[in-house]
Amino acid sequence: MQRKRAIVLQQEWGDKPCEHPAFAKEYDLGERTGNFICTQCGKSFTFREKVELRAAKGP
Ligand SMILES: [Zn+2]
Repeated sequence: MQRKRAIVLQQEWGDKPCEHPAFAKEYDLGERTGNFICTQCGKSFTFREKVELRAAKGP
């Protein structure tokens, strides 16, 4: 997902709580940033944050 698109998603989603059900790889100007974006709320996560989020929810 392009970073620009993520910013639009964030604005549309606002401050509602999100369980971050799915992630897409983040791209900026066509290049991988190494981060991941929640496809629901548009929040950006590092790989480590993504792993920890999944770990917190259990297997
Ligand atoms: Zn989310």
